[in-house]
Amino acid sequence: MAEDGAGMMERVLTSVFSFFGREETEKKPRISTFYWNQEKRIVQRLEEEVSTCVEIWHSYVHPRVRSIFSFAELDVILFQLARNVNKDEDPITGGSEDCVLWHGDITVNNKMEVQAALCIVHKDQTKTVGFTNRLLSFIFADDDSYALLQNLPVTKDALQMACGNQLCVNLAHISI
Ligand SMILES: [Zn+2]
Repeated sequence: MAEDGAGMMERVLTSVFSFFGREETEKKPRISTFYWNQEKRIVQRLEEEVSTCVEIWHSYVHPRVRSIFSFAELDVILFQLARNVNKDEDPITGGSEDCVLWHGDITVNNKMEVQAALCIVHKDQTKTVGFTNRLLSFIFADDDSYALLQNLPVTKDALQMACGNQLCVNLAHISI
């Protein structure tokens, strides 16, 4: 079934991502984002390790992503991902054993629960703030997992983590 780019974009933004919608940069976002405890608690990858990591993750990106993000936009997302988790942890290829704690932006959902969030700056300088786990599932989930996620009720909320830790961004811990 053919689907044009605009239709796909709309569907992703409204039902799969549950993005909050684009915000003009000069306006205050509806939700607050701020950096938390990252200096004390996170041991960051060195810049060359970040690049290596991003290069590896690019090879795991699902082709569905190409219709939504340019390579450059995707690059920015993956760099944020690599910089905001501990250097010895990998949310994509690290396996399901341990939680991978998010040290990037956070936001609260409408139940006032803290959620991992990621900010995307578009070419026109507008920003979209998305839940990190929704972004990860869109970018990396295989077709079967992604189909299950699309069957979940539409909410403007992060996906639930099977481990119960909403600041965990391990792809394998996303509840489907
Ligand atoms: Zn976890």
